[in-house]
Amino acid sequence: MKNLQRKRILVTGGAGFLGSHLCERLLNEGHDVLCVDNFFTGAKENIIPLLDNPHFEVLRHDVTFPLYVEVDEIYNLACPASPVHYQFDPVQTTKTSVLGAINMLGLAKRTRAKIFQASTSEVYGDPQVHPQPEEYRGHVNPNGLRACYDEGKRCAETLFFDYRRQHGLRIKVARIFNTYGPKMLPNDGRVISNFIVQALRGEPITVYGDGLQTRSFCYVDDLIEGFLRLMNSPDDLPGPINLGNPGEFTILELAQKVLSMTGSKSKIVFKPLPKDDPLQRRPDISLAREQLRWEPKIKLEEGLIKTIAYFDKLLKAGRTAKSF
Ligand code: NAD
Ligand code: UDP
Ligand code: UDP
Repeated sequence: MKNLQRKRILVTGGAGFLGSHLCERLLNEGHDVLCVDNFFTGAKENIIPLLDNPHFEVLRHDVTFPLYVEVDEIYNLACPASPVHYQFDPVQTTKTSVLGAINMLGLAKRTRAKIFQASTSEVYGDPQVHPQPEEYRGHVNPNGLRACYDEGKRCAETLFFDYRRQHGLRIKVARIFNTYGPKMLPNDGRVISNFIVQALRGEPITVYGDGLQTRSFCYVDDLIEGFLRLMNSPDDLPGPINLGNPGEFTILELAQKVLSMTGSKSKIVFKPLPKDDPLQRRPDISLAREQLRWEPKIKLEEGLIKTIAYFDKLLKAGRTAKSF
């Protein structure tokens, strides 16, 4: 007999950091999960533990090309998220956000599936309003090094809301702030994985600029809970809605925390600040608190303990970036 609670759920970018956590959570909730990924920044290691589950499937596919499958829900996460990776082939990054959104929205339109978009705090650019509420329209350089990501994600939001207005699609748009945790790759390039890997290897900790720029870091389990609450909220709540942890730290504070928590003897070295690097970032999560009854539970130190343990095990097992 068909289990009416069991949904067929597509996760694009399902082999990535957030995607693999989401696939695992959805399988645990009793759903059929189809992971679609081109493995640009994803890793087979992230999803190998799921392959034994008969309700899990993987398809190597690039979302810039059409995809014809039958599903009930779509989580669209496909897109490199770390600046070093999204700037490696910026044209492909814009295509992934824009053509990927068009194809997944076309798929949602044909199947009448509900569709979730992994948008980002980067739609606010280098913000002039602090903390950032959803109504803030942002301060983005449209042609700088980060534009392929920021403007790609902004255009994807436009497409999501136009498919809702024009075709009556059920959409859910989450603006995700910096998230970290196990299953990030050692060569991910984002700040938390860089600092932990550098500290564990006894290499210099690379702080860009003076380190006084701020970020607010959310532990992955908290974020994934937010994804499900948003996806399962009433249809008249399309978002956009901020999901992130409001605890704000300077990058220098983060470096010092990682050093003391790992007991590393690494020295901090200062490197040039990349162009257009946002000076401060912190989510206003009033809307998520009110509408989803959601807020992060895991404090930075607690999340760092788990993430340090993950990288420590990975590095001790001799797995380097090259072996992924
Ligand atoms: P990630 O790089 O680990 O994962 C992205 C996944 O998408 C990878 O598995 C990659 O191989 C896949 N991918 C890239 N281009 C693709 C394409 N054209 N077709 C199919 N698959 C493709 O990054 P992540 O941190 O897991 O981020 C997931 C999503 O969440 C991204 O859309 C990102 O923009 C968004 N997001 C993440 C954060 C964060 O802090 N982690 C913050 C804001 C937004
Ligand atoms: N599409 C897809 N899978 C589907 C349906 C559509 O990948 O199951 C793609 C298709 O390539 C199309 C895009 O989604 O170009 C947008 O579809 P839509 O129906 O909105 O537009 P149209 O087909 O009229 O261009
Ligand atoms: N950063 C740093 N050293 C690193 C990597 C990043 O000082 O090795 C800084 C970066 O300049 C930025 C912040 O940390 O100010 C967060 O960078 P990340 O790439 O993690 O994310 P994003 O800039 O997209 O928020």
